[in-house]
Amino acid sequence: MSQELEGGCFCGAVRYTVTSQPRLKAQCHCRACQYFSGGGPNYYMLINPEGLHFSGEDLGTFRSPKKPDAVTRSFCRICGTHLITERPGLRELVLKVGTLDDPSEFGGPKIAIFCEEKQDWHDLPEGVLAFDTLPARN
Ligand SMILES: [Zn+2]
Ligand SMILES: [Zn+2]
Repeated sequence: MSQELEGGCFCGAVRYTVTSQPRLKAQCHCRACQYFSGGGPNYYMLINPEGLHFSGEDLGTFRSPKKPDAVTRSFCRICGTHLITERPGLRELVLKVGTLDDPSEFGGPKIAIFCEEKQDWHDLPEGVLAFDTLPARN
């Protein structure tokens, strides 16, 4: 993918441009993502922080106090759209694919994570590599 990707929140107050190639395309079935997605998996891409440029309103953030290694989720303060997640120990940002101006540019996931928390009625696309939790880091 050589062209820049553009996106933003539902109301348009937050905008972004992606200038680097996504490192990973995936879907997450964890229970928390089910809250944010409406019940299905979250579809996302990993993006280098230097390759993601925000404009417009500042993002609000939420971090669960229940887990010491909790992720930080960022959202539009006006319309509530969840745009990115930061995971402790992971350099890249988790960018939610539904916020792309043209989500079809995602092209589909390569892996599925946290499948141990998935619902029976969640679909795994054919050929997608499924992990119970996270793939091992190398
Ligand atoms: Zn918004
Ligand atoms: Zn998740």
